[in-house]
Amino acid sequence: MACDLRAVLLVTRQMEGTATNVAKQRIELRCSLPVEHTGPHRDDVHAQEWVVVQGRPSLVLRDESE
Ligand SMILES: [Zn+2]
Repeated sequence: MACDLRAVLLVTRQMEGTATNVAKQRIELRCSLPVEHTGPHRDDVHAQEWVVVQGRPSLVLRDESE
C-alpha cells in the first residue's frame, strides 16, 4: 500500500526584472512511497519531494526560473 498523501505543486517562474513570482503550472502530487515511510513524501511521477508542516496545507513551490 502506498502512503498516497496528496499535495499541490506550484511551479513558479520569476518575472524578469521584477521580484514577482508567477505560477506557471499547478500539479497534483501523490506520495508513492509505502505507508509509514520515514523522511519526506515523494511523488515519483513528478520527481518531487515534500515535507508536511503540521497544521498547514501541503503546498509545494518549485522555482523554474532560468
Ligand atoms: Zn508519504
